[in-house]
Amino acid sequence: MPSGVVQPTDDRPTTISESGARQWLYPASFEGKWQDRRTIVNVVLMLLFFGLPWLHVGGHQAVLLDLPHRKLAFFGLVLWPQDSYLLWLLLFTGLLGIFIITAQWGRLWCGWACPQTVFMEGVFRKIENKIEGKPTKRMKRDDGPWSWDKIWRKTLKHGVFFLISAHVANTALAYVASSEVVLDMTLSDPRQHMSWFGLMFGVSALFYLDFAWFREQLCTIACPYGRWQSVLLDDHSLIVGYDYRRGENRGGSGKRRKAPDEPFGDCIDCGLCVQVCPTGIDIRNGLQMECINCTACIDACEPVMAKIGRPAGLIRYTSLLELDGAERKAVRPRTIVYAALLVIALTVFAVAASHRKITEVSVVRAQGQAVMQIDGPNLVNHFRAKLVNKSAKAVKIALEPRDGYSFVVPLNPWPVPAGETATMDIFIRRKLVDFKPGGADRPLLVFTHEGNEIGRARVPLLGPGTAAKPPIQRAGDER
Ligand code: SF4
Ligand code: SF4
Repeated sequence: MPSGVVQPTDDRPTTISESGARQWLYPASFEGKWQDRRTIVNVVLMLLFFGLPWLHVGGHQAVLLDLPHRKLAFFGLVLWPQDSYLLWLLLFTGLLGIFIITAQWGRLWCGWACPQTVFMEGVFRKIENKIEGKPTKRMKRDDGPWSWDKIWRKTLKHGVFFLISAHVANTALAYVASSEVVLDMTLSDPRQHMSWFGLMFGVSALFYLDFAWFREQLCTIACPYGRWQSVLLDDHSLIVGYDYRRGENRGGSGKRRKAPDEPFGDCIDCGLCVQVCPTGIDIRNGLQMECINCTACIDACEPVMAKIGRPAGLIRYTSLLELDGAERKAVRPRTIVYAALLVIALTVFAVAASHRKITEVSVVRAQGQAVMQIDGPNLVNHFRAKLVNKSAKAVKIALEPRDGYSFVVPLNPWPVPAGETATMDIFIRRKLVDFKPGGADRPLLVFTHEGNEIGRARVPLLGPGTAAKPPIQRAGDER
């Protein structure tokens, strides 16, 4: 193993030195069939990440967690605060999806789809290698004094890192503030919206710090998913593993020459699998929490096996059972339970989403002077209806008179733009002589859209002899 390569130990992560200080990793670059496949996946995922904020479905941004308006748009489905049960169902379904994927295919997410791995290994590490050269050169330069060569390379690398981080940060913000807002803010003078500029700079700086400095520590120290492994994985789950039965007794040519009678395995102890590992571990030590299943060690080992005339697969996608010589089962009780729960959750979500009301109404008593006495013998109660239109087209919501009460509304039906809410003021006039005190006078408000009832509410009138404000029965409580 070349000097300078971090040696894994059993009692502390490879990124932490004996004194507790950060130990910088210099993973070697490599090529191989898994790397080629990962490059294709990375490109597709990056195209999706950068492209989705510009895609619109049903009049809404395809994926938008609209925090200012408390809405979530997901490929045409727009969830409002009133639909929070659907959001919880969606999260529960996603959690079950993670459970089943991890139980079946291990840390597929970490190695292939996690943004940290996709950007770190697919973009930042490649740029670093281009600008600063091979790991051994980088190590030497980092340990050496400042020189013009070191200054220009570091300046260029960190400048490019920050620019890419800013682009990633802006795109990430487009998922919570919409692509139009981000574009508008980016193109206008920063002095006009300093708070937005500060937010954008702060998020960019966070991404930059992660990719330029924090790096693999996000996976090995900060990310909770690695810890979940111990409960989500079992002996049948797919992992990247070293075939110790085939590889051991390991030894290089020197060791083999010195002990010609000793039986040796296929591992020639070249250390390449450790040199390429982005988390600095030695896969030969068995399943480890730090392994993100990135497949780099598979690609590093395959040419070695080819060179010494041994079959590929000393390090491969496998399972703990297969490494012990037993058979791996894809279908087992835990995957059946996860799959059944996932199907149930998806079905409940689909049914709930398809029966979701796209127009909703709620009525409250108007603030301030909720009751007035006008024209001498007449009482007027003032209410406000909040009209919600969750659809992608404008609608008109009408208030229909019932029970012989006289309503006054500024406009009936009341227009509500697509994906918006509107407030309808409702005045109910009642002759003083007909008024029933104590909350007994309760006209029924019925709201309709295109002739179909979408909500109703009983609204107790206030007047002489009605001390407290009786509660309004919400739409749908009484038919
Ligand atoms: S790359 Fe293969 S042969 Fe080399 S040390 Fe790793 S497991 Fe052994
Ligand atoms: S051990 Fe292999 S698969 Fe695991 S993180 Fe290191 S290089 Fe990637």
